[in-house]
Amino acid sequence: MFSFCSKSPVDEEVALVVDAIDKLIVGTITPKTCETMSREISCLPMFDVSYEVVLDKNVSQLVLNLGPKDTYKWLVVSTLNHPVQNKGFKGTPTERIFHVMRIHVVSRVVDAFKHLRVMIPGTITTFTLQANIFDLDENIKKLPEYLSVIRQCNTIRINGDEGKHSSLCSVILNKLRIPVEISTREFPADKNLNLVQVSQTPKIEIGLDYATPEDIMSVATKNTVIWLKEFGIQSINQLLHLWLNSSENHMSSLNLKIKNPEKEKIDDIFKDINSVQGVTKPCCGYKSECDKVGCKNVKLGRLQTVGVHFRRRDTAEAVVFYAIYLNEFTFLMLINHSPFFDFSRFETAKQEFKMTIPAYKKMSKEYMELLRKLHKEEMKLAANPAGKKSDRIQQTLEIGKFKCRCYQWEYYQFAEASINLKHIERIAYCRVNDRLSDGVMSLDDS
Ligand SMILES: [Zn+2]
Repeated sequence: MFSFCSKSPVDEEVALVVDAIDKLIVGTITPKTCETMSREISCLPMFDVSYEVVLDKNVSQLVLNLGPKDTYKWLVVSTLNHPVQNKGFKGTPTERIFHVMRIHVVSRVVDAFKHLRVMIPGTITTFTLQANIFDLDENIKKLPEYLSVIRQCNTIRINGDEGKHSSLCSVILNKLRIPVEISTREFPADKNLNLVQVSQTPKIEIGLDYATPEDIMSVATKNTVIWLKEFGIQSINQLLHLWLNSSENHMSSLNLKIKNPEKEKIDDIFKDINSVQGVTKPCCGYKSECDKVGCKNVKLGRLQTVGVHFRRRDTAEAVVFYAIYLNEFTFLMLINHSPFFDFSRFETAKQEFKMTIPAYKKMSKEYMELLRKLHKEEMKLAANPAGKKSDRIQQTLEIGKFKCRCYQWEYYQFAEASINLKHIERIAYCRVNDRLSDGVMSLDDS
């Protein structure tokens, strides 16, 4: 089903596109007519075209953005939870669409997209896959086909429950080359994930079932966030050794979010790494053995708020933080390969933070309002199971639209995550003098 997300005058070209899309969705289009339409449409003064694709067991979406500022924007909503069940059902086009969608919901959306993209070529800005589609075996079987249709997208997001279908997460990521961003967050990929390939994408936020310090170094890209169940202090120590012995020149931030962080062995975090310029604070200066009462807590507190400065032989520098009570990070490394690290980078972060925070506050408020509306609509639908068929379809569509808009607000959550990181950078900036007066950690040349 298509509807206007933005109010715009429907002129001739757009009417043609609308007609083509409608035919696609009801499934009356053949490859031949598709080709004809493609020729007709290509004669028109075309706009920039981009797509957003969401595959979800319940509500899949195709958003087609036309025009320099998305002047025309369509939304296809398909849903499995619709009330039409009569097989010989003859109704309005909308109702017929739902009949088709009910049976092959995800594959129909993929199929429609395939044809649509032939007619109106355009890039996929964001492809979102809800792993719940794999609850249906049919979708697991058709995954290669889906991926061949999607092929290239700038950003991929895979959302899912922890552990379930996580082998498929690796299958998907290994198949696609993503130029902008990968996000699988808490939905972990298994050991078959091609770490080196993933590291070609400049921004990643991924979950890994299991990872060694070597794995982390392989997958680390410019900006990396990795969700892990376990990654002990000893592993962090090894990771620091690997970085100090490496000559990587691309990392900017590495953020590990460890579900079960370790605090008991905190004394070993910088084991066999020497302090140069005399690290004397806190307490014993992060030496691995100390008998003083409360030393562990002082170290933890300092690692969370001030951090420790590291320098590599090639002059690359890093600030390292460790926290066990924060959501934003457990282990965080901010890396710089040029001089004047603290000043320029943190000053920029501070300015950005100041500018963006009011906008995000406003977006957050609107998002909460949308969620409330969505909840209200869903309650209305649930309370009226015997209602008029057409009313129920209309309501389902309304919910679909709300869900789509809520979904777009995930941008907010993403931005928020990156703002968190900027916030951390701001803290790092504020404590730069404390940190530098604490001294610098390095490896011996011997
Ligand atoms: Zn101590």
